[in-house]
Amino acid sequence: MDSTADLLVIGAGMAGLTAAARATANGATVTVLEKGSATGGSAQFAGYAWTAPTREMMSEINPHGDRALRNAIVDDFAAGLDWIRGRGVECADGVPVLRYGIGHAFDTVQYLDACVREIKAGGGQVLTDAEVRSLVTDGDTVVGADAVVGGESVQFRAGTVLLATGGFQANHELIDEHLHANASQLPLRSNPHSDGGGLRLATSVGADIGPRDAGFYGHLIPAGLKFRDSGDFVELSLYYSEHALLFNLGNKRFYDETQGDHLTANALMEQPESRGLLVADARVYEEFICGSYVEGAVAVDKYSETAKRGGRCGIAATLEDFEYLPEEWGYDGAAIAEEIRKVNAAGQKVFPPREYDFDPLDRGPYYIIETTPAVTFPLVGIRIDENASVLRADGSPIPGLLAAGSDVGGIYRRAYAGGISAALVFGLRAGDSATR
Ligand SMILES: Cc1cc2nc3c(=O)[nH]c(=O)nc-3n(C[C@H](O)[C@H](O)[C@H](O)COP(=O)(O)OP(=O)(O)OC[C@H]3O[C@@H](n4cnc5c(N)ncnc54)[C@H](O)[C@@H]3O)c2cc1C
Repeated sequence: MDSTADLLVIGAGMAGLTAAARATANGATVTVLEKGSATGGSAQFAGYAWTAPTREMMSEINPHGDRALRNAIVDDFAAGLDWIRGRGVECADGVPVLRYGIGHAFDTVQYLDACVREIKAGGGQVLTDAEVRSLVTDGDTVVGADAVVGGESVQFRAGTVLLATGGFQANHELIDEHLHANASQLPLRSNPHSDGGGLRLATSVGADIGPRDAGFYGHLIPAGLKFRDSGDFVELSLYYSEHALLFNLGNKRFYDETQGDHLTANALMEQPESRGLLVADARVYEEFICGSYVEGAVAVDKYSETAKRGGRCGIAATLEDFEYLPEEWGYDGAAIAEEIRKVNAAGQKVFPPREYDFDPLDRGPYYIIETTPAVTFPLVGIRIDENASVLRADGSPIPGLLAAGSDVGGIYRRAYAGGISAALVFGLRAGDSATR
């Protein structure tokens, strides 16, 4: 095992392996330390590299995201796709993602494996079951990390250290502190290892964390169902919610669902018990519940899937039938039916608004699923500049320390335009910064 390298990468997912492969291509020696027993992180479950196609669109949907960081994603995205293709991995033509993005399907596992092969071929090493305990500093400068690899304590020395541990969603204390008091009750929709290792190491040397209200990326899933395996992360996500109506335990709508399922998930987290009743009519069922979320993705009838697995759901032939909603669910069915009638009568004047789909939900039967948010990764995290350098609260960079991917905070703030794109772009920038 080599204990010195030009770049030491902590975390072998999208950001870490991209940075390591890029630095290798630039002629550097690289060591990657992965906590899990295999590489791939959450990236192995992803299918699309996507983002907003222009700076203007990015600013419209993510107005409070850090301007330099969000622009970097738009500016470098095409070069990022070329980089993936350059590893021999096919990236499909662009298809619409949500109402504002363009996405390219690619085989993430093939890409991540290609990165590992290139790192090793360049003389680098990728070590799994590696637990980093602390950073090593020389004065203000980060110069390595103390780790335990396969039970053996090793001090790694490096010109640059990159934090790429994928966020802190698996850490109950941290998500309660940085997201919401209800957050640790919510299902985890991610790899199980991203529990704040990067955040802890960054703050130990004075890094700034933020922004406080950035929220998280995740999706609504049927309440009470457990993920059986990683396939369920997509299979149970109720992406169609942007065309449905969501009611809290007070039997009221509380958010513009048409903004997108990922944003509605944030809003529901803050409601009592973080659960709500998602109602679709026959139009929404036919057009969206049974359709593909993104062109090319497998279509799953989410209602049938929820019913099959014993989730809390039901079909009401008419609005009158809502009064038979089981009492133990905690909602007043008749009151919800009345709210739906009001939404339908209000049309475009409805409040909360339904900006992007104000068609009435007036065609029975109605498909009802109780839902709760599942968390993929927080959007609050380590502050960086556009070269991926970790920043202190006064805005100065911490010498020798970089961060990329879901460890980073502030790229998106109560908004989202791709996690793979962010990890790709800042992984490449980190690889370049480390070898500049
Ligand atoms: C089901 C699912 C589907 C998704 N689909 C898409 C999609 O289609 N498009 C898209 O843009 N985004 C998608 N995402 C999000 C995307 O996967 C992430 O944004 C992306 O993987 C982030 O890259 P990363 O390198 O920061 O984290 P990851 O890829 O998760 O990698 C982090 C790595 O760090 C390791 N690690 C954690 N702690 C430590 C530690 N202390 N020391 C060492 N290693 C550590 C982890 O084990 C992991 O291997 C999806 C996510 C999920 C869960």
